[in-house]
Amino acid sequence: MQVPTKTDIRQLSLAELEAFFIAQGDKKFRAKQVYDWLWNKSLKNFDDMTNISLSTREMLKAHFVINHVRVDVMQHSVDGTIKNAVKLHDDKIVESVLIPTEKRITACVSSQVGCSLDCNFCATARLKRMRNLQPDEIYDQVVAIKEEAEQFFQRPLTNIVFMGMGEPLLNYANVLAAIEKITSPEGLGMAPRRITLSTVGIPKMIRRMADEEVKFNLAVSLHSAINETRSRLMPINDKSPLEELAEALVYWYQKTQRRVTYEYVIWQGINDDERHARALVKFCRHIPSKVNIIQYNPIDEGDFRQAAQEAVDMYVRILEENGIVAKVRRSRGQDIDAACGQLANKNEVATLVEKK
Ligand code: SAH
Repeated sequence: MQVPTKTDIRQLSLAELEAFFIAQGDKKFRAKQVYDWLWNKSLKNFDDMTNISLSTREMLKAHFVINHVRVDVMQHSVDGTIKNAVKLHDDKIVESVLIPTEKRITACVSSQVGCSLDCNFCATARLKRMRNLQPDEIYDQVVAIKEEAEQFFQRPLTNIVFMGMGEPLLNYANVLAAIEKITSPEGLGMAPRRITLSTVGIPKMIRRMADEEVKFNLAVSLHSAINETRSRLMPINDKSPLEELAEALVYWYQKTQRRVTYEYVIWQGINDDERHARALVKFCRHIPSKVNIIQYNPIDEGDFRQAAQEAVDMYVRILEENGIVAKVRRSRGQDIDAACGQLANKNEVATLVEKK
């Protein structure tokens, strides 16, 4: 016989928790108290819920567990960036990153363990997708970074980007549930406009977000506005080519009136010529947008090389001449493999190899 496993109490919505208390013959408002401990105060133990009676705490323990994540390894970069290897209740590991700048402290969080997409310049792609993260596992990553911001920088967390491991739009329901908690007053009460979801660009899901009138920002990993090149870089482009992506983005803009950010890496011999820069300008004309040119972070000895500075300058010039805002983003946390596309549980992989 299989031993029944207890439910993670944080999988329940407030309404479900209220229904549970009523079914137990208890008061409905207890649910709100417990919910506040679980989310606003991020308690990890039923015993610490001091305004809940001992018998109720025992009753909760008999039904539920609190599956909290744990920061397993914390690494500090010379530039201040911090990378957390976060252990989940089933011992799987994801990574999240704290990025400090003069004005902001940004949390970069993961949405899946591994990733099912095969962008061939990204280290996470090598892990394949193991599972989706639960809303509380995403939320906990944010809380861990928020606490580190206060501890190491004496500053509040200001922004959140879904640019860690995984494709957020392939774990849509859980990512949205996490954002709901992050923005609700019972959770962290952060403004949605401080949150950015980054995606490879799945047209169907972009339309769905638009229909649901989400209030956070959208970033799309473009990397090329020419189908042939983009398909070589990101196989997803074969399934959803640029024309379809553009249509979905037009729909997004019509519904939300929110400008989109395109993430763009320039690689030597791949997209570092004027033809690609001009194609990007043309793509940007679909809707109001801006371009973040990201530096390539090497993940192996492979064929990808960061383009020369002249190519980056050429892109910026052509974009600006055409009235498109372009920002060149400096890479952060490269020394601890915390930069874009480098998240791949290297420590864990290293330990596994050592153990062999
Ligand atoms: N799956 C989502 C979010 C994760 S990646 C997405 O693709 O948008 C966050 C960003 O880092 C994406 O723009 C991705 O294309 C970029 N990236 C991946 N590998 C990289 C690398 N080696 N160097 C620089 N950027 C990289």
